[in-house]
Amino acid sequence: MVASLSDLPLRDDLRGLTPYGAPQLDVRVRLNVNENAHPIPEVAARSVVEALAGAVLGANRYPDREFTELRQALARYAGHGTVPEQIWAANGSNEVLQHLLQAFGGPGRTALGFDPTYSMHPIITASTGTTWVSGERDAGYELSPGTVTEWIERTDPDVVFLCSPNNPTGTPVSNETIEAAYAATRGVLIVDEAYIEFAPEGTRTALALLPGRERLVVSRTMSKAFAFAGVRLGYLLADPAVIDAMRLVRLPYHLSALTQAAATAALAHADALLANVDDIRRQRDRLLTELPELGYTVWPSHTNFVLFGGVADPRQTFQRLLERSVLIRDVGIAHHLRVTAGTEAETTEFLTALAETDTATKVD
Ligand SMILES: *Cc1c(COP(=O)(O)O)cnc(C)c1O
Repeated sequence: MVASLSDLPLRDDLRGLTPYGAPQLDVRVRLNVNENAHPIPEVAARSVVEALAGAVLGANRYPDREFTELRQALARYAGHGTVPEQIWAANGSNEVLQHLLQAFGGPGRTALGFDPTYSMHPIITASTGTTWVSGERDAGYELSPGTVTEWIERTDPDVVFLCSPNNPTGTPVSNETIEAAYAATRGVLIVDEAYIEFAPEGTRTALALLPGRERLVVSRTMSKAFAFAGVRLGYLLADPAVIDAMRLVRLPYHLSALTQAAATAALAHADALLANVDDIRRQRDRLLTELPELGYTVWPSHTNFVLFGGVADPRQTFQRLLERSVLIRDVGIAHHLRVTAGTEAETTEFLTALAETDTATKVD
């Protein structure tokens, strides 16, 4: 007996929606969800295991609802004068974003984002009953202060998403654009900085803009540069009043004692965990150089992935790579595919497999 969704009294606004679903396949080279290809260093792994052992012994009690130690560790890592009262964390930055939409979105409210952008932004928006409004980008997927201001004035959103640097295009967003968006909106401005650690040295983060801007939120994650995707730990930095709003919507004890212990222990080894960022940047820059040599176009990237164009039939190229045990991402942009920068060996395998696929897969 197998029913389908249409047999259930599902919420009307969820009918017809598609769940997030990047393929999870057992292949040799996985370059489809922008994970850090390097395992976490042994010294950090040992500390994490020790911390977990301690946490298990106290697991008869509920965890610290305020994850005090973890917030202290995250504030130290974030720098920029951040204090623990400005930090919120949850099971991945996706849950952080969900808390934000639960608090500041909801039925009758709207969230503005600029497609193409992270696919979870519209999904979380919809699942909280908020209406997604899609703005348009400038040429080259850029976002100028004028463009964001015009869209905000035209649509008057309750929440604005800026993904900086943007997934799936790799495009950075300047602090001038973020300042302009904040000045134009009466709503909450969320700057998703999931990939900020891969930006060039000296890139200004939106953290510098927090003082005096109580509706500005910067979200971050340990899933990408930190090589900690499997643990599920995301966080945000904002005015302490925003943190109070998060307490209204989170479930009690949402961060398990194990998650808190693992993340706190890992943050003590931040330097070791981030040690591969330079190597990943080099592989990204190699993709930016070598994909054009194979006849494809590339978009500038401040992240650990590259969006490339000139693909005649993305589905077919995706499939041919998969037959060679290389998994990348079809993000639904015509004639484009996205690939994560892997280890040197994985990146080589991808480039070799792509070169082997028929040259007829390219378009001008
Ligand atoms: C990967 C990614 C995240 C991270 O999600 P987690 O839930 O923290 O794993 C957030 N935002 C963007 C834009 C991403 O690409």
